[in-house]
Amino acid sequence: MEIREKVDVCVVGAGHAGCEAALACARLGLETVIFTVSVDSIALMPCNPNVGGSSKGHLVREIDALGGEMGKNIDKTFIQSKMLNVSKGPAVHSLRAQADKQDYSRSMRHVLENQNHLTIKQAEVCEILFEENNDEKKITGVKTFTGTIYECKAIVLCTGTYLNARCLCGESITYTGPNGLQAATHLSDSLKAMGILLRRFKTGTPARMDKRSIDFSKMEEQFGDEKIVPFSFSTDPASIQKPQVSCWLTYTNEKTHEIIKNNLDRSPIYAGIIEGTGPRYCPSIEDKVVKFADKERHQVFIEPEGLYTNEMYVGGMSSSLPEDVQLKMYRTVPGLENCKIVRNAYAIEYDCINAKQLKASLEFKAVKGLFAGGQFNGSSGYEEAAAQGLIAGINAAMEILGKDPLILDRSESYIGVLIDDLVTKDNREPYRMMTSRAEYRLLLRQDNADLRLKKYGYQVGLLSKTHYEALLLKEKQINDEILRLKSTIVGANKRIRDFLDTKNSSHLNTGASLAELLCRPELGYDSIAPIDDERQPLPEDVCEQVEIEIKYEGYIERQKRQVESYKKMEKKLIPSDIDYDDIQSLRIEARQKLKEFMPASVGQASRISGVSPADISVLLIYLEHKRGRE
Ligand SMILES: Cc1cc2nc3c(=O)[nH]c(=O)nc-3n(C[C@H](O)[C@H](O)[C@H](O)COP(=O)(O)OP(=O)(O)OC[C@H]3O[C@@H](n4cnc5c(N)ncnc54)[C@H](O)[C@@H]3O)c2cc1C
Repeated sequence: MEIREKVDVCVVGAGHAGCEAALACARLGLETVIFTVSVDSIALMPCNPNVGGSSKGHLVREIDALGGEMGKNIDKTFIQSKMLNVSKGPAVHSLRAQADKQDYSRSMRHVLENQNHLTIKQAEVCEILFEENNDEKKITGVKTFTGTIYECKAIVLCTGTYLNARCLCGESITYTGPNGLQAATHLSDSLKAMGILLRRFKTGTPARMDKRSIDFSKMEEQFGDEKIVPFSFSTDPASIQKPQVSCWLTYTNEKTHEIIKNNLDRSPIYAGIIEGTGPRYCPSIEDKVVKFADKERHQVFIEPEGLYTNEMYVGGMSSSLPEDVQLKMYRTVPGLENCKIVRNAYAIEYDCINAKQLKASLEFKAVKGLFAGGQFNGSSGYEEAAAQGLIAGINAAMEILGKDPLILDRSESYIGVLIDDLVTKDNREPYRMMTSRAEYRLLLRQDNADLRLKKYGYQVGLLSKTHYEALLLKEKQINDEILRLKSTIVGANKRIRDFLDTKNSSHLNTGASLAELLCRPELGYDSIAPIDDERQPLPEDVCEQVEIEIKYEGYIERQKRQVESYKKMEKKLIPSDIDYDDIQSLRIEARQKLKEFMPASVGQASRISGVSPADISVLLIYLEHKRGRE
């Protein structure tokens, strides 16, 4: 007998994207079901045992500022924490934490299991149900492998690396998802039947070794930071100061590269067995040896997978070479001479989409009520997945609640850069976030994600009034303190001269504001305290903002001016019924690309590859004339 359930939202996938999407919908009061092929793999980390790192740490902070869960979850389950790039400017400071993978998954599952309005269902979703009126498709529900139908108002697809997945280790191919989990083998046909275009991507992971078989004396120990900084703005820093585990650094060498080169014919990548396109910025060791043949050695990071396992992750050596070659290859690495492989390295291929089929809200342009997030959208990485899942979940909820979608632009967030790049650029490989992708990165620092985005978390209803008022207070404290330092003048007197001597800082010729002194590289907000008589105690995060805003004021102001001209183009909206064939003077390539992407604004149009600045001028003139005729 067919079972029929009625809910508001169905989230297909309980990976990093699905968890954020489902929590967002349930926390906004919508009856939500989250599907997974295995409830024991909720928020599974099938690859690297860490969260954050360069630009990815920014995403995690932004997810937290919007009311997402990833930041809180890693603060509860990390086993080592490190702030990267501290020798460089604040724009690239990035937090990275090693996770206890089992604990991370267990903790996220606990949050989902105790979330009101949320139901977890272990079932394979095989079909999207929809109705069609005048060529417009609108979803009505999903059907599972066992035939149960869930009627709903919105669906969020977060299927990750499971759709028609196959895993390759040399000549051995298994038709499973990651870690031998069941692949999802039915949904792709249903999506294709709706006219959704799918493609094959691939990614890979290294072997896991038995810790007892590793000689760490031949490696460089990598320690965590003494003072641990949390990812979540709501985590009390004092509550997470704890002993940490170490990671280890070693290197490949000529022998390693020789073995790889001699066996490329047995690599599914180089033997042409693998169809899917892999991530350029997460290359396999085979790719590194072939593409960077001049490099004598490549870094290898040995990272613990958790506190209660002996499994060690061999970062930097993902591969799909056969097991016998893997063993020979790994045993050439100093410290791994007697290593025992617990899990072989492998590559995984899976179905995903080109996200140009999506609006910036992550809803499909051609199917109302169908949203998508995560690796399924052609990205790679836990953090990229979680960010998209959160936005897709929020916007599925906004649609049901009859509210405007949350669309973050690239001048206010890395999430905005991520989604805009996915839906506007023709990405031919898995998209990985990097600081270089964010043109306004000095404004998009991880330390000010709350100041940039908490207002949106409050607006959509994921952050409480208390949270929002705390934010407004922080903003006021920062602005007041900056004003105070700018208006507090100290004289070129003996007291100041003596103080500056203690800081090897040059003397003043005339009076100067404390803010001017603070701009000196050798001085900081804390170090000028002895000559700042009016100072009141302020929270550490406020002091951090004051120092950055004053020290980088010139650069920040310049970037803000760049953002103003960027926003001007973003505000030039393009009517959704525009006929590009009507614009005679547009180049053919540009016309084709504009018809394919149907950009929402002139700004977005300018970022489509193949659309030149000259085409944009033609488009602007056409829109001006069209407005004139109306
Ligand atoms: C082998 C491997 C290597 C990787 N290497 C890297 C790397 O080097 N660098 C990097 O950045 N990232 C890497 N990743 C990617 C990283 O794991 C993903 O980016 C991340 O897990 C994506 O999260 P997600 O939520 O989109 O999907 P996933 O974490 O894959 O979760 C998908 C979820 O969907 C469920 N699901 C799928 N289809 C259905 C269905 N039809 N019905 C019900 N449930 C369904 C699954 O059960 C699962 O819960 C790798 C992943 C794998 C598997």
